[in-house]
Amino acid sequence: MTWIRDRWRRRRVPRDVSLSDALFEHFPGAALLADADGVVLRLSPGAEAHLGQAASDLVGTRLSGLDEDPLRGELARGMAACLAQGRPWRGAVRCRRADGDLRYQDVVIRPLAGGEGPPRLLVVLHDVDDLVARARVDRERLADLEAGLARLPGALFRLRQTPRGELGFEYVSDGIRELCGLTPETLQASPEALFARMPDADRRALTTTLARSAVGLTPWEQDVRLTLPQGERWLEIRARVRRGRQGVTLWDGWLQDITQRKEEESRTRALVTTDMLTGLLNRRGFFANGRAVLAYAARHHQRVAVAMLDLDHFKALNDTHGHAAGDIALQCFARTCRDCLRPYDLIARLGGEEFAIMLADGDPEEAWRVFERLRRRVAETELALGGETLHITVSLGLAFLEPDGDLNEVLGRADRALYRAKHEGRNRVVGPSPVV
Ligand code: GH3
Ligand code: MG
Ligand code: MG
Repeated sequence: MTWIRDRWRRRRVPRDVSLSDALFEHFPGAALLADADGVVLRLSPGAEAHLGQAASDLVGTRLSGLDEDPLRGELARGMAACLAQGRPWRGAVRCRRADGDLRYQDVVIRPLAGGEGPPRLLVVLHDVDDLVARARVDRERLADLEAGLARLPGALFRLRQTPRGELGFEYVSDGIRELCGLTPETLQASPEALFARMPDADRRALTTTLARSAVGLTPWEQDVRLTLPQGERWLEIRARVRRGRQGVTLWDGWLQDITQRKEEESRTRALVTTDMLTGLLNRRGFFANGRAVLAYAARHHQRVAVAMLDLDHFKALNDTHGHAAGDIALQCFARTCRDCLRPYDLIARLGGEEFAIMLADGDPEEAWRVFERLRRRVAETELALGGETLHITVSLGLAFLEPDGDLNEVLGRADRALYRAKHEGRNRVVGPSPVV
């Protein structure tokens, strides 16, 4: 125990030195004391080492002289703010050491209250130059990365959703400008700017797939259309999802313009469902579109009229005038059908010289009128072939489909009616009586 007492005695402050002097003397960092005018009164030994200047050189000079740019006066402003508000001030100031080295200091200025004397300021410096340099390198790297991202096609994003369902973009890269003419700042302020450009159906689909991804933590994949001043564009959204803190859901992903791909897909789809000779639907196209028409009719409790058509004595035309003439006759017949019907009626070449037509709103009387008119128009059409004028005729078998009926079944009935039309002399429409 004696040795502890001895050490304590050795370190004891002499009686004529105040406690505050002792604290200042032994302060482990760089501290300065200044008066209300910013004149340095004393320095801790640490401050001398820190600034590379002896206390004798600094005491009596202005603290703001340490500021790299005393005219801009960051230190002077800090002292004034501290004195005016009676509260500590903190800021980063680039200070000049005696050797001319400029280093960033984290500066804390505190007003020292107490006593009768004039106000004093305690200034504590902490060298943060290495941190600032590292931050600068990080900032430059980030800027470089962002410039690289901006050059990529499309845009990267981070979307967040709170447990209450509020959506917001935390980040959107600069590519969004080219994608949809919006700035990252606009989208970060509100995602509504983007959602408002989507047709209702796409927006609903987006909301559904986003919710599914959030619940199951499964990747979010959605293609949406955007209505922009320059026309419609397709946007592909692909993102990975994770749960963040406090129940927040986060998606990291990218947006890409896939308009060209969608257009190519739709051209390919059209080719698959189109008859090359006439440009009408082919059998596959008729069934694909026919099912959609039936579903629509079922929802609206409408009947659908279906006709099977077969050109009369077509073999003879081929035999007499050649196959090429037969092809021209088929094309001419297709044109006449299109001219006689409305754009939303389905006309298909099922094969050879057999066709099918579906009228979306199958009022029986109207259907009879339409098909009779078509039969007449075909018969009246003059076909100029190699100096000769030909006429072709067509036989039609008609059937009506109830809203929940089957397409194959009604085609079967129409085909049987067509058989009867051929049997009864051709160039006629046969089907159930229009009087229901
Ligand atoms: P019907 O009045 O009983 O229908 O007599 P049809 O001669 O039209 O009957 P059939 O079905 O026996 O003949 C159809 C002919 O259509 C046979 C075939 O050579 C011809 N044909 C089928 N596809 C094409 C085609 O793409 N181009 C041409 N030019 N002819 C075709
Ligand atoms: Mg035939
Ligand atoms: Mg025929």
